[in-house]
Amino acid sequence: MILYKESSGISAYLEKQRQKGETIGFVPTMGALHRGHMALVETSAKHSGLTVCSIFVNPTQFNDPADFAKYPVTLENDLKMLAETGADIIFLPEVSEIYPAGMDQLKQYPLGQLETILEGKYRPGHFQGVCQVVHRLLEIVRPDVLYMGQKDYQQCMVVQQLIDTNNLPVRLETCTTIREDSGLAMSSRNMRLSEEDRSRAAEIYRTLSELKKQLKPGSLKALKGNAIKQLTDAGFKVDYLEICHALDLTIFDEWDGKTPVVALVAAFLSGVRLIDNLVLHA
Ligand code: AMP
Repeated sequence: MILYKESSGISAYLEKQRQKGETIGFVPTMGALHRGHMALVETSAKHSGLTVCSIFVNPTQFNDPADFAKYPVTLENDLKMLAETGADIIFLPEVSEIYPAGMDQLKQYPLGQLETILEGKYRPGHFQGVCQVVHRLLEIVRPDVLYMGQKDYQQCMVVQQLIDTNNLPVRLETCTTIREDSGLAMSSRNMRLSEEDRSRAAEIYRTLSELKKQLKPGSLKALKGNAIKQLTDAGFKVDYLEICHALDLTIFDEWDGKTPVVALVAAFLSGVRLIDNLVLHA
């Protein structure tokens, strides 16, 4: 496994590999790695000649400075997991490598309604930050395939839009959400939960699974209201729980029984913000 800290170094190395005909798979992360991240690395390693993984806690995507300050860092363990899972090249840039001109006048991306609903609504500026970092990383790594997790459903849509509007020569491959046995979606933020809260957090997946069972054509209002109550009663502070068109995230209050729909939720438990989603009808 080779480690790079400078963008010029990794770009030059990967260019040589590309000229030799290697295909490149890329897994961008913010570290504090877990089995969800490793599933992406494994998938890339299976399908690409070289697997690149970046670890960079991107300041521009945190709308809450306290969340940024508390983001877990477990570099030694991350590198061990990556070596064991088959990553070939690790990119560990400083902020100045990603934003060489500073962070004051970064490019803004047209994202349409994706920026004003769900995560976009509750984390203003978050998806601009995601686009800024992913665009820059794609320019440095120039992968054939970009691997991202369905756990961040809306983020995958934002990144696909980034790729499409900028004609970036990369394919986005979305990988299914990896969960604990309890159903809790794996997340770096779970490390900040107490043992007791971690088991309570499984209520999110139970609620989503219940929604899936109860989904039927007609009004969705009672279904959504019950799900929010279930979470609130379990001690969560819910930012949103919505049922949306699975392909463009338009929020539905009624369902026709045919359109593909996904339920998406964001909720705080003891000050830790957790997100999850489940496709209810494909
Ligand atoms: P993060 O380090 O949280 O920015 O995540 C890096 C990548 O891993 C993103 O594409 C996430 O969607 C993905 N990811 C995070 N958690 C999971 C999970 N539980 N299952 C699958 N992918 C995940």
